[in-house]
Amino acid sequence: MLSVKNVTKKYGKIIAADNVSFEIKNGETAVLLGPNGAGKSTVIKCITSLLRFDGEINIDGNENKSIEAKRLLGYVPEMPAVYDLLTVWEHMEFMLRSYKIQNGEQYAEELLERFELFDKKNKLGKELSKGMQQKLSICCALVHRPKVIIFDEPMVGLDPHAIKELKNVFLQLKNEGASILISTHMIDSVEDYWDKAYIMKNGRFCAEKTAGDNSIGLEELFFEITEGGNSQ
Ligand code: ATP
Repeated sequence: MLSVKNVTKKYGKIIAADNVSFEIKNGETAVLLGPNGAGKSTVIKCITSLLRFDGEINIDGNENKSIEAKRLLGYVPEMPAVYDLLTVWEHMEFMLRSYKIQNGEQYAEELLERFELFDKKNKLGKELSKGMQQKLSICCALVHRPKVIIFDEPMVGLDPHAIKELKNVFLQLKNEGASILISTHMIDSVEDYWDKAYIMKNGRFCAEKTAGDNSIGLEELFFEITEGGNSQ
């Protein structure tokens, strides 16, 4: 379970996250929507402890900066960051060793197969295309079987097979009881997968929608909040 309480992050005078609070329970998928500059990546970087912030973030009850929390967290960043001089397979080995995972090779191979990277396991990071780097970044984030997984714009650059596989991964992780947060601009791409949708604007969570609440469509709500003169 992911718990974010009263998180505020300022860059100088800019309040990029303004007293943000939300929870994602086990087996729940949340999407985070908002226009450019709304504060989505800032919130995500606070959760992954890449940024200092005011407030409290817990992962399964562990403070997000703790080793226990980091073991439970998986993160697919907006821009894939692969090591130029490690091969695809060495990336997986590096992750398994970093998390001290025993006997994780079979799952690592399975992930690479699913994302059509197994036949490229001896290619160096710098030899991969942008989409292949994104797929490797996803495999690296999942290989330690995290319980809370954050995807920042995960579909960008992926081919249709990889998008389909990633959607299967979302469902599988959810069925296994993980808490999933997906930040995206592609509302259509996640329409079937979320339990809760949060809409950010100017650093604040301005609206939320629960799956099954059909009073307003997600896209309609998004435009109402972001273009409807709601200045919250
Ligand atoms: P996008 O959809 O464009 O990726 P976002 O919702 O992820 O946007 P953030 O990147 O979190 O938005 O940015 C929120 C605000 O914080 C913006 O006003 C942005 O200019 C500002 N900001 C982000 N990073 C920094 C930084 N390193 N220094 C100063 N201001 C920053």
